[in-house]
Amino acid sequence: MKRRDLIIIGAGPAGLSAAIEAAQYGLDVVVYDENALPGGQLFKQIHKFFGSKEHRARERGFRIGQQLLEEAGRAGVEVVLGAQVIGLYDGLIVQVVRGDRIERVRANAVVIATGASENMVPFPGWTLPGVIGAGAAQTMANLHGVRPGNDLLMVGCGNVGVVVAYQMLQAGCRVQAMIDASRAIGGYGVHAAKVARTGVPFFLGHTILQAEGDGKVESATIAQVDERWQPVPGTEKTFAVDTICLAVGLTPATQLSRMAGCTMVNLPGLGGLVPATAQNGATSVPGLYVAGDAGGIEEASSAMIRGRLAGLAAARRQGFADSQAAESRGQELHESLDRLRGGPFGERIRAAEELMHKALEKEAACQTA
Ligand SMILES: Cc1cc2nc3c(=O)[nH]c(=O)nc-3n(C[C@H](O)[C@H](O)[C@H](O)COP(=O)(O)OP(=O)(O)OC[C@H]3O[C@@H](n4cnc5c(N)ncnc54)[C@H](O)[C@@H]3O)c2cc1C
Repeated sequence: MKRRDLIIIGAGPAGLSAAIEAAQYGLDVVVYDENALPGGQLFKQIHKFFGSKEHRARERGFRIGQQLLEEAGRAGVEVVLGAQVIGLYDGLIVQVVRGDRIERVRANAVVIATGASENMVPFPGWTLPGVIGAGAAQTMANLHGVRPGNDLLMVGCGNVGVVVAYQMLQAGCRVQAMIDASRAIGGYGVHAAKVARTGVPFFLGHTILQAEGDGKVESATIAQVDERWQPVPGTEKTFAVDTICLAVGLTPATQLSRMAGCTMVNLPGLGGLVPATAQNGATSVPGLYVAGDAGGIEEASSAMIRGRLAGLAAARRQGFADSQAAESRGQELHESLDRLRGGPFGERIRAAEELMHKALEKEAACQTA
């Protein structure tokens, strides 16, 4: 069986950053991605990122992806596309499907950076063609140049909802309405304002009741919700739409961390069930790290720093980065992550991290009892 210093699963911002960092210290690194294109979510993100300059705000996502790929190439990282990892076993054995072959490769360390999947909400008619995830709409329009529909209803006004709604307007769709059960817009104000300026109405405190249509979506009915998020009779409104985009959150891809036997914790603030990790991504399985959305939903900016931290930790574990400079580099990355999570948008993450540490302390206490 082949052996590698470091195997990274997922070539999104977290995985590529982990690879670049580790390769700089001389590790032999391979990145597997099941997609035909590397870059994860970045390659469909045509908008300018938010946040601070230190965290690449005002740069467009796909350009950041291109830069990461070039950097990975210069650092000597091997990126293998069309390679789906289907197994991760004890002793850090990775099982990967490439074409019609299944290979098993042993690693000294593994970083799981498999991202997240979009949440769905079930309602009458939700299986009709025309009900899609907002991320799917973004992939169709920005990667394949295909408009998902002509008249859209966007369900969810968080970052994904407002960003994708604006991109659908740019693609020539009509966004008939934006709705959210919450009474506040969760997405960054700058993107919400861009959508609102085009005249798209926002219905906050509203939910979708049903999708109607004969074999495909032809209309959607929404209603106001009360303080217990129950529909208020008599407040229904129907919109003639052919597409309903769901932007109702993401769930970390934890299949591989669960398969590897990582200790898991349920933290709604991070998107649900996640592997318990230290800030450098180390899980309860020695040599196994998690970075990016696979360890809790955040953003590409933090996925890149979390990736770098995991790559550095994997290098240090194998004795590749035991210099004072590497020590300072770790410190610098931790501080950068803290600054990123320092603002009001980081509050959810900080609270979830605190719960994670409490869960870990409790587990340690149980093991020693
Ligand atoms: C519409 C939208 C707008 C956004 N805007 C911003 C923004 O402005 N700023 C910002 O910072 N963030 C933004 N984000 C969030 C950002 O895109 C994600 O947080 C980030 O991409 C997460 O990076 P990642 O590397 O963890 O995962 P991903 O980018 O999802 O990459 C995961 C990779 O893993 C691969 N993979 C998964 N499973 C396997 C497997 N079993 N085997 C092999 N490969 C596998 C996938 O193919 C994928 O390439 C946005 C997200 C969306 C959806």
